Amino acid sequence: MEKTFVIIKPDAMKKNMAGEILKRYQDVGLKVAAIKIMLPDKELAESHYPKSDSQLLGMGNKTIQSSVESGKRSSLIEIFGTEEPMEIGLMLREWLVKYITSHPVIAMVLEGDDAVKKVRKITGFTDPSRADKGTIRGDLGSDSISKANWDRRATENLVHASGSLEEAEKEINLWFKKEEIVGY
Ligand code: GDP
Ligand code: MG
Repeated sequence: MEKTFVIIKPDAMKKNMAGEILKRYQDVGLKVAAIKIMLPDKELAESHYPKSDSQLLGMGNKTIQSSVESGKRSSLIEIFGTEEPMEIGLMLREWLVKYITSHPVIAMVLEGDDAVKKVRKITGFTDPSRADKGTIRGDLGSDSISKANWDRRATENLVHASGSLEEAEKEINLWFKKEEIVGY
């Protein structure tokens, strides 16, 4: 059965939304194969948000694109001091590590048919203020990327979900030991 990886992030934990979020994944038939509550340490967080060129460029470019779409490209310089996607990506990574280590989170492995895509669909778009209704981020989220950028912090968007099968496998192995996962 296909497996994917989800984190219920600090903002959702503080707002007691873990039950509602888990229910939304279970309602589409996904099963919990592993689950634990933990405070991630810096080492784990830095491995989860790798300092790889593709990751940093991806996040940097997404940020540039969203500022272009909202007609605020010039604010990039003001906020990040640069328009270089790589440098922006590095800054975002710092904010993400700080955020994910700030409060206990729930890490879980979900399994089911087409689990990776299903979970991404229910999770919704990165920016809660622009995520579709019917998704977790769209219905329960309250933050926005542009607000987070002005505050110089990670966007508080309730959950993390693996973006691909490859990412899922990597993240499951990083966060869980084999014997913690049902069926191994
Ligand atoms: P996701 O897979 O939809 O969560 O989005 P990404 O993988 O692109 O980004 C990882 C995380 O970085 C997101 O969940 C956000 O918390 C944060 N993030 C992404 N883009 C931005 C941004 O432009 N500004 C800020 N402040 N945070 C961002
Ligand atoms: Mg992602």
